[in-house]
Amino acid sequence: MKGRKVLVVEDEQKIAEIVKAYLEKEQYQVVLAKTGDEALTAFKQGFDLIILDLMLPDMEGEDICQTIRNDSDVPIIMLTAKSEEEDRIKGLGIGADDYVVKPFSPRELVARVKALLRRVKGPKEFVSFNKKDLIIDSARFEVTKKGETVVLTPTEFKLLQCIADHPGQVYTRLQLVNIILGYDFEGYDRTIDAHIKNIRHKIEDDQKSPVYLKTVYGVGYKFVGIPDED
Ligand code: CA
Repeated sequence: MKGRKVLVVEDEQKIAEIVKAYLEKEQYQVVLAKTGDEALTAFKQGFDLIILDLMLPDMEGEDICQTIRNDSDVPIIMLTAKSEEEDRIKGLGIGADDYVVKPFSPRELVARVKALLRRVKGPKEFVSFNKKDLIIDSARFEVTKKGETVVLTPTEFKLLQCIADHPGQVYTRLQLVNIILGYDFEGYDRTIDAHIKNIRHKIEDDQKSPVYLKTVYGVGYKFVGIPDED
């Protein structure tokens, strides 16, 4: 996981510098590009991951993304400034693997970078969190908590797996319903709360102060486990 090369394409220098500093702290090699033109030139060096701002002075992030996609499957995280842009990314399927809405916390972005690199790495099908406290094994459909197997229903497993794939991202109840729709028709509306409650019961030490599944009041839920280094 160390020493991977990340291209950060961002015209706002302050943001670019902060992202660079956080990534370097985690031993990533970082190259900055301020324009689409610079990005497409730098891209030829070869990168393990690209962080791409949607709004650049000379080119649309979407166009850069598509140009890169013509040549490469490199993982791409899009940065967007507002929710309409978020809709654009979701709606058009422009080839980004993940996206982060500004203002974002650099720590969250780094967590997404790690999660994405882990996801594209291939055969490794399990992820662990909080120093192996919680392990989610997608190949075996198994979750262990402090080394003990936790029995989750298929719906609970699916829910936990999806939400844990994007640490820090807030999911609304509706999004969570969509995740488990087609998976379990019982997954509607407030039953999300019931599923979350059941999962918490199984994986949290103290359900009153959860360290994995946090409630975001008035919105939904997010997973805040810290992925372990490989
Ligand atoms: Ca910008």
